[in-house]
Amino acid sequence: MPEELTVKAAPVVPGVRYAPAVWANPRPALPDDNATIAAEDVDAEVERFRAATTAVSERLAARAGRAEGSAAEVLLATSKLTLDRGWHRAAVKEIKARVPAEVGVARAIDKFVEMFRAAGGVMAERTTDLEDIRDRVIAHLRGEEEPGLPTVDGPCVLLAEDLAPADTATLDPALFTAMVTVLGGPTSHTAIIARQLGVPCCVAAGAALREIPAGEPLLVDCITGVVRTGADPERAREAVAEDLRLAEFTAAWRGPGRTAEGEPVQLLANVGDGNAARAAAEGVAEGVGLFRTELCFLSAATEPSVENQAEIYAKVLRAFPEDKVVIRTLDAGSDKPLAFANLADEENPALGVRGLRISRSSSGLMERQLDAIARAREIAERAPEAPIWVMAPMVATLEEATWFAGLCRDRGLTAGAMIEIPAAALMSHDLMKVLDFVSIGTNDLTQYAMAADRLSPALAYLTDPWQPAVLRLIDMTCRSGADMDVPVGVCGEAAADPALACVLVGMGVASLSAAATALPGVGAQLGVVTREQCRAAARLALDAPDAEAARTAVRELLAEAAAD
Ligand code: PEP
Ligand code: MG
Repeated sequence: MPEELTVKAAPVVPGVRYAPAVWANPRPALPDDNATIAAEDVDAEVERFRAATTAVSERLAARAGRAEGSAAEVLLATSKLTLDRGWHRAAVKEIKARVPAEVGVARAIDKFVEMFRAAGGVMAERTTDLEDIRDRVIAHLRGEEEPGLPTVDGPCVLLAEDLAPADTATLDPALFTAMVTVLGGPTSHTAIIARQLGVPCCVAAGAALREIPAGEPLLVDCITGVVRTGADPERAREAVAEDLRLAEFTAAWRGPGRTAEGEPVQLLANVGDGNAARAAAEGVAEGVGLFRTELCFLSAATEPSVENQAEIYAKVLRAFPEDKVVIRTLDAGSDKPLAFANLADEENPALGVRGLRISRSSSGLMERQLDAIARAREIAERAPEAPIWVMAPMVATLEEATWFAGLCRDRGLTAGAMIEIPAAALMSHDLMKVLDFVSIGTNDLTQYAMAADRLSPALAYLTDPWQPAVLRLIDMTCRSGADMDVPVGVCGEAAADPALACVLVGMGVASLSAAATALPGVGAQLGVVTREQCRAAARLALDAPDAEAARTAVRELLAEAAAD
């Protein structure tokens, strides 16, 4: 292992922790697929299979009885899935073709995993549950220990390929202070349970995580999604203490967003549907800053009708009847393919026909979506003064912005654009001549500015919004906004980082939009700094030679401000 290793992961539950790494118990090796059994042993083998699945299911159900809330629900669901008739039939069929029970289990589950994966989305994230069942049943058949949590004698950071519900449901947060997984998604069971337990958690760290040996002290930052070995112990402990201080503030913080002297900074939620919007409305969100409409249609084979779309959008509008809702038109393509909109295979989809480019090239797709948004306003019976802002993703040119703004105005909608392509930041002054607002998408802006795939764990050091080059593009956009009197918001992940949020406000950003769960942390931090301190933070970050130096300088400044 190199002296220092930095692994980028997707943060799902915020918090900073420092403790030695432990790895979850390994999964059993998969059986030899060529193994066979004699014809006369088939019945006994089917019996062995049934007994093993019953035992595993009962054990999971017993744990469900000891757990609470959603932990109990997922354990019970896994217990039931262990006895699911569909995969049992497939396994028995395999065993009857004269393979050992272990092979029958592995083959049947493989088939179902493939089906779930092909279905995509939430189904694909449930493949972990199936694989967990496979491993538990195989371990039981062999008389081995069940895979999962190791026994530990002190606080640690739990590392795993992917944690299954049964591993995490009975986990003691005092011992397992943070969790990081190689695989998993933001809605995987690992994430759901970590959220419930309040254990800081990052997922999707990628293969690089496997290089971290057990026992290695780890600084895990589940706010920015950075996992590091080789951190200076004293500074790591300071970072944890600062996080705990912030957590205390956060727990008590109620909003609305404002700086220490009371200047408003709108805190908005990123949502993907009506449910998420309603959940956000129960918290501190002052509206919606990014409604990713494409997420509503990931499994739609054909374009939903205007009326259908309108019903879906109206649900989000109803969650915030009087507050601002920023709706983004379909950002199809690349990592969010839509069956009815996407072009056939592209060599390089991140640089291909995506976002506004798709909606424009598929005849009338954009117009129909804007009609649906205008109709949603009627369905939701929204007051005329309740703001609906509409923005287009992946705008690169003034001509695109002008075209889009014209379509919005024809329908009485407030027109904006995402600033997520460096060209748009460089042209922001001109774009603002035709737009009512802009919102900076720091995820893609960073990807395109640094020429680094936002999904690549190996390039995490580049896909960092603290990179001075990215900050300068943001600053340039803010200067345009001040000059043209056009509001500038940020709706990429950068807005969820409390320290970076101060930098953004210092540059002149008027609203920050992030996952609803991240907003209290951002609001609490903003509430203890003045606008002048935010400006100083922005200057420090802009002048820093690299991302790490920018982050460190700003954190030091904020720590001093908090101590005042
Ligand atoms: C972004 O690119 O920063 C953004 C907010 O959009 P998405 O993450 O949906 O691409
Ligand atoms: Mg984007």
